[in-house]
Amino acid sequence: MRILVISDLHANLTALDAVIADAGAFDAVWCLGDLVGYGPDPNEVVARVRAFPNLVCLLGNHDAAALKVIDADTFNHEARLAIYWTQQSLTDGSVFFLQSLPERQVINGVTLVHGSPRQPVWEYLLDTRTATLNFSHFDTPYCFVGHTHLPVEYYLPDEAQIARLVVPETPLELTMAPRAIFNPGSVGQPRDRDPRASYAIYNPDHNTWEYRRVAYDIPAVQARMKTAKLPERHSQRLSSGW
Ligand code: ZN
Repeated sequence: MRILVISDLHANLTALDAVIADAGAFDAVWCLGDLVGYGPDPNEVVARVRAFPNLVCLLGNHDAAALKVIDADTFNHEARLAIYWTQQSLTDGSVFFLQSLPERQVINGVTLVHGSPRQPVWEYLLDTRTATLNFSHFDTPYCFVGHTHLPVEYYLPDEAQIARLVVPETPLELTMAPRAIFNPGSVGQPRDRDPRASYAIYNPDHNTWEYRRVAYDIPAVQARMKTAKLPERHSQRLSSGW
């Protein structure tokens, strides 16, 4: 069984389609939130995601802001402009789908959240100290998170007090060992200085996690962002992956 694990799509349809084309056959999709925000294709991305087979999809902070569940004032100026644009652009059908998304889901022994098991929508797992504290907030062998846009693994062996951080060179296939927190990176706005779309394939039968990257047509997305008058900085950052 191959499960496509994606996060932080950020309304970037070109990146999502490149991932779908690159992933090969998959049996299920686990999407860790932030379908919208920043990018020019919120409805198209929602439509692609809804159509996936055996989908489990989580709510991200940008999704919540687009739904006005959380206040856009909590975002920086440019992110807020993108949220307002997204609010104007979403169809009723897209809003209905986003409203249906849970903040936390446990499936087949894996806890899924957008940010962290402690604060599912908001907390960033950016360091081993924060990650260590979060291991007591889920009881499954594995937890999959997104939100930081950085592909990493935090690993807490039984004897260890502090979680260890693994930053993968991609492509990389790991044999998984409990307990661990995995982040597939971001499809639509990578921030590890590699502009290629980032995602993972989880195979629960073989107990493997595969970090993967795929290049996509960034100028095409930037052209749509320009037409939509989305903030220039969000467009530029796609080129350098930050
Ligand atoms: Zn995000």
